[in-house]
Amino acid sequence: MIENRCRKCGAKLSSDEIALYRKLFSRAAVTYFCLDHQAEYLRVTREDLEKLIEYYHRTGVCSLFAKWE
Ligand SMILES: [Zn+2]
Repeated sequence: MIENRCRKCGAKLSSDEIALYRKLFSRAAVTYFCLDHQAEYLRVTREDLEKLIEYYHRTGVCSLFAKWE
C-alpha cells in the first residue's frame, strides 16, 4: 500500500485526514495535506476540522467517512 503523506510537510496521514481532504478539496485528489495544513489553507483551526470529521462520522452523511459503530 502506498503511504500517503502531507505534500507540504511530509507528515503521515490518517484515513480521516485523507477523507476530509477529499471532501473539502477534491474527491479525485491523489495528493493531500495533513490536518494542520488543511486548516492553514482554509484559515480555520485544527479543532474546527477535527469537529468536522467527528460530525461526518456521527451523522454518516458522507460516504467517504466510515461510520463509527
Ligand atoms: Zn502538513
